[in-house]
Amino acid sequence: MSKRDYYEVLGVSRNATQDEIKKAYRKIALQYHPDRNPGNKEAEEKFKEAAEAYEVLSDPEKRAQYDRFGHAGMRGGFSGGGMRMEDIFSQFSDIFGDDIFGSFFGGSTRTRSSSHRQTGTRGSNLRIKVRLTYEEMANGVQKKIKVKKYVPCDVCGGSGAKDKGSFQTCSTCGGSGQVRRVTQTFLGQMQTVMTCPTCNGEGTVITSRCSNCKGTGRVYGEETIYVDIPAGVQEGMQLSMSGKGNAGEHGGLAGDLLIVVEEEPHPYLHREGLNVAYDLYISFPEAVFGTTVEVPTIDGKAKIKIPPGTQSGKIFRLKGKGFPSLNSYERGDELIHVNIWVPQHLSPEEKEMLEKMQHSPNFQPQPDKSEKSFFERIKDIFG
Ligand SMILES: [Zn+2]
Ligand SMILES: [Zn+2]
Repeated sequence: MSKRDYYEVLGVSRNATQDEIKKAYRKIALQYHPDRNPGNKEAEEKFKEAAEAYEVLSDPEKRAQYDRFGHAGMRGGFSGGGMRMEDIFSQFSDIFGDDIFGSFFGGSTRTRSSSHRQTGTRGSNLRIKVRLTYEEMANGVQKKIKVKKYVPCDVCGGSGAKDKGSFQTCSTCGGSGQVRRVTQTFLGQMQTVMTCPTCNGEGTVITSRCSNCKGTGRVYGEETIYVDIPAGVQEGMQLSMSGKGNAGEHGGLAGDLLIVVEEEPHPYLHREGLNVAYDLYISFPEAVFGTTVEVPTIDGKAKIKIPPGTQSGKIFRLKGKGFPSLNSYERGDELIHVNIWVPQHLSPEEKEMLEKMQHSPNFQPQPDKSEKSFFERIKDIFG
């Protein structure tokens, strides 16, 4: 099934402001919220679809990525495709705030925790580095990464209990997960409701622990993760994959996996922003007679023509052979800087030949006014 356009989902124009996007999402989220549409699959789908659209469009970086690549740009690296309910609800507190949320749905935030229970403690985020070649950064790549981290215990399914019979209703709260405390104030009796400290709001306690994970619900292990790196990333950029970090304890949500981009140096090319530079050496006769040379580029080799009489320091530009930008259609160039190789060792015959030419008028430097000066050339490159 192909995905609907995110702007269409939220019913906003492509140049909608952040405020307009937020308002539009709020309206849809309220309309299709599962608490208002119990058991309605269609409403749930609409709810999820809107949450996903909001998650992308509310983040300027993701939005730019989406504007450029559409849904294809959203794979892996950014929004792992399809959001989990837990994530949607955690996103909610940013938009509505817990209090507003409660009053909208005719109850305390308890409404939320009873129908979409979040048990256990959330796992921590993990940060890993991924080293990329120039080619991978320019074209995008899918990386298979083995991540050492806490994973849910597969013996107990993350609950931490030995078996189904190891759960007992919490005696402190009687299974409700909440305790009420009555306090006397000068206004009279006040009743406050708090999360049960014995069971952490879970309503049950474990009487005998899973031996594999010692009751924590997670074990240290490894997961193979496929990360889609979009084209145009640069050194130091960070991608995040929600729910791919450390598993939580007792079935809690997993943290996020943060992927930091590291640049693998290129053997011949040097990156400068979106441009790449290459130092080309040609021989003196080649500079005089002209030649065709092969130069390395990010994607293999390219041939360039060196016209007769090319001066040392000349810069040739291969348009569009640099890096793409992550956030725009811009693309850098490859700049080829010509150096003329001066021989370091000469045979007696060669020496003699050169000595003959040394005083010829044709060999005397005659700075060419039609050529750009050093400073003009630098300005050309760095703007
Ligand atoms: Zn276990
Ligand atoms: Zn309890």
